[in-house]
Amino acid sequence: MKYSLFLAGNWQEPKHSKPLYSPYSGEWIADVPDADEEETAAAVDAACQAEKTAASIPAHERADILLKVANLIEENRETCARLIALEAAKPIKTARKEVARTIMTYRFSSEEARRMPTEFINMDAAPGGEDKTGFVLREPVGTVGAITPFNFPMNLVAHKVGPAIASGNCVVLKPAEQTPLSAFFIAELFSKAGAPEGILNVITGDGKIVGRKMVEDERVNMITFTGSKQTGLDIRSRAGLKNVTLELGSNAAAVIGEDADIEQAAEKLTAGAFAYQGQLCISVQRIFVHKSKSRELQRAMKKNVETYTPGSPLDEAADFSKLISPQETNRVKAWIDQAVKEGAKLITGGEVEDGILQLTLLRETERSMNVRCEEVFGPVAVIETFETWEEAVSLVNDSKYGLQTGVFTNRLDEALQAARSIESGSVLINEIPSFRLDHIPYGGVKDSGNGREGVKYAIDEMTERKLISIQA
Ligand code: ADP
Repeated sequence: MKYSLFLAGNWQEPKHSKPLYSPYSGEWIADVPDADEEETAAAVDAACQAEKTAASIPAHERADILLKVANLIEENRETCARLIALEAAKPIKTARKEVARTIMTYRFSSEEARRMPTEFINMDAAPGGEDKTGFVLREPVGTVGAITPFNFPMNLVAHKVGPAIASGNCVVLKPAEQTPLSAFFIAELFSKAGAPEGILNVITGDGKIVGRKMVEDERVNMITFTGSKQTGLDIRSRAGLKNVTLELGSNAAAVIGEDADIEQAAEKLTAGAFAYQGQLCISVQRIFVHKSKSRELQRAMKKNVETYTPGSPLDEAADFSKLISPQETNRVKAWIDQAVKEGAKLITGGEVEDGILQLTLLRETERSMNVRCEEVFGPVAVIETFETWEEAVSLVNDSKYGLQTGVFTNRLDEALQAARSIESGSVLINEIPSFRLDHIPYGGVKDSGNGREGVKYAIDEMTERKLISIQA
């Protein structure tokens, strides 16, 4: 199948195409547009020309379009899951969960369209404000440039497209090179749902060409990005004065207190470390457990790992599969090997079998090792110990990242101390850092980025506040 660009409601033949291969089998999947700067500018044109239309669609119609998209995804659940499995090598069971969440994200977007934030200002709270009535209008920024990564090809697209359209914006969407098919499928559904032309445009190609052009184009009013820290820095340095939301990586930590239920925690931690082969920004990577419970946790996690089945992403039995590319497999394997060479011990895994990196648990790592201080973005977690709660908190904070943190304890004082002292966008008590619902505020501190997603919060970033004051 040969795909086209989706511009101004039409499928447009690209100048150049590129083959897309399955990350699992290496087989050809499709030919996809490899857009240049001129085609990117045309996508921005299409969005800009639709700005007035988008802003004038009444909220109830925007809500209806988004609800229809959610319903269409529901009708095509299995097609969506298979697309994700095919292009991202996400095990089909996990892909189905992503589809379920994508439906929620569009439903939340539909609901939020109806309740755009408004604010009344008590003008007479300050001298000079007597006889004035003030309120704040929310206006769409105009054109939103959405740049997405490969790991959630449907739901991370939804987290940008849903709130942008809910708040009356137009979108130019640039999905990751490896996962364009989900984005094209969503474009088709928006078309079917009756979205006016130009409100959603999809352009695929090299991030350094298409992505950069979108970032540098002055007509794009806001960039919403999820991806690597390195790309985030590049975007920030080229974006000029436009709004930028950056959802970057992390080496997420989980703390397991002395009184935690180890069996229960181990089950969640294993799922959090190895879902989609650890290719999540909030994958469990650093586990800090009270010294007295370390053995028990290691044993329980190792036992859980042994129940996970490797295989083809389209295989119903598969719990994990290949990473997104052989280069990524080699990189993560090299990080494990380096750690072991420098003294870390393998609890389980560490090898590549039939191209699939085994689920890997390490102990006795040093804070300077890549598997600990960098974002692994692969199926690796380290288990280290602490003796005091202060030490646990300081181990968590010993990171340049701060996205989400999980803390397992039943002691109120420990829970509150963690909540107050841990430097991250969220602290989740008795939950893993990989937990996310689609309406909660989601985003990082430190090198994990800035701005928040979670439909209502994304709308906040995608709208301008305009104060209206009436003297009468
Ligand atoms: P990941 O390592 O998760 O794939 P990347 O940051 O490399 O993260 O990619 C995320 C998205 O950013 C992709 O859609 C990619 O094409 C795009 N991208 C890559 N480089 C740039 C850039 N310099 N400017 C804008 N977008 C880019």
